[in-house]
Amino acid sequence: MEHVTASLEDLPLRDDLRGLTPYGAPQAALPVALNVNENTHPVPDEVGSSILDDIAVALQQVNRYPDREFTALREGFADYLGHGLRPENIWAGNGSNEVLQQILQAFAGPGRTVFGFAPTYSMYPLLTQGTGATWVAGTREPDYTVTAESAARQVAEADPDVVLLCSPNNPTGTALGLDVVEAVYDAARGVVVVDEAYQEFAPKESPSALTLLDGRPRLAVSRTMSKAFAFAGARVGYLAADPAFTDALRLVRLPYHLSALTQAAATAALRYAPTMLAMVDEIVTQRDRISATLEALGYEPHESAANFVLFGGVDDPAATWRALHDRGILIRDVGIPGHLRVTAGTEEETTAFLDALASIESAS
Ligand SMILES: *Cc1c(COP(=O)(O)O)cnc(C)c1O
Repeated sequence: MEHVTASLEDLPLRDDLRGLTPYGAPQAALPVALNVNENTHPVPDEVGSSILDDIAVALQQVNRYPDREFTALREGFADYLGHGLRPENIWAGNGSNEVLQQILQAFAGPGRTVFGFAPTYSMYPLLTQGTGATWVAGTREPDYTVTAESAARQVAEADPDVVLLCSPNNPTGTALGLDVVEAVYDAARGVVVVDEAYQEFAPKESPSALTLLDGRPRLAVSRTMSKAFAFAGARVGYLAADPAFTDALRLVRLPYHLSALTQAAATAALRYAPTMLAMVDEIVTQRDRISATLEALGYEPHESAANFVLFGGVDDPAATWRALHDRGILIRDVGIPGHLRVTAGTEEETTAFLDALASIESAS
């Protein structure tokens, strides 16, 4: 294989995948990477060594397949989430993207539809297309909120098989009220997933959709260890739902999908949840500093309950993105005209971003 001899067009690809582009947030090795909403603080040392100890133990039996039911990990997530949840309510995968994919494999697929309020997480349409289903985009108010009334009307009209509600929403940072989740659930025939990837960054008083699970067997709440937990590289996502919902996912998951090493690492990290989450308040402080400073610079930051800020008032997003890139700072052009999105980093990273942006001066 010395030369590239074929292009995608030459291969007998599925017709519905022709012309699509893969998920592709740029992965440039820049000193300040604030583009994919990671926790930019590393795992604390004392937790790291404990995780390593548990991985070492798991390694002694890595000749055997892992526990297919990841029992200890499900107990860990049930304890962490609280709300009276039990291990049989919990499911996990290699990142919440895998969990979402399994949901779509079980409940969407060819001939079915998946609905979400745009702009929302860019992976939803891709995961939908990958499973052969059709993505249907609903609309938000100009400030990216969604009212319960409008949400229920749109969902009733679209009558989707799966509704994906992202709260706080990526890329806008907007939190959804639980009244919206309830209204959507009542209006929907299909399953309703609330993606709470950023819930740990939301104001402490804003309730999780976990409080709505009781008596709603078509509802699932998904979470991830990739953001607040500083565990993006380990690839661990999870959800809570009725045990019948998790049984549906067992029909489509690959056997032994969670490696013994992943299970060991995540279970150990969960034992140190308060330490792992210790930087959340600091990140929220930096997020609020970003919003205040952007406003002072003449940009229009949107209210965020997550660890990032979407801001408007950018004359030429591609030019500003490039100018920051040339100063060693990577943020995200999410394709919304006049907008860019930046992740709240450490205090130093955040300062580097804000200083660089001030030096560019491209607010309209
Ligand atoms: C980052 C993110 C996830 C997490 O993905 P993982 O596969 O767990 O890393 C899920 N949903 C949304 C909306 C996200 O922004």
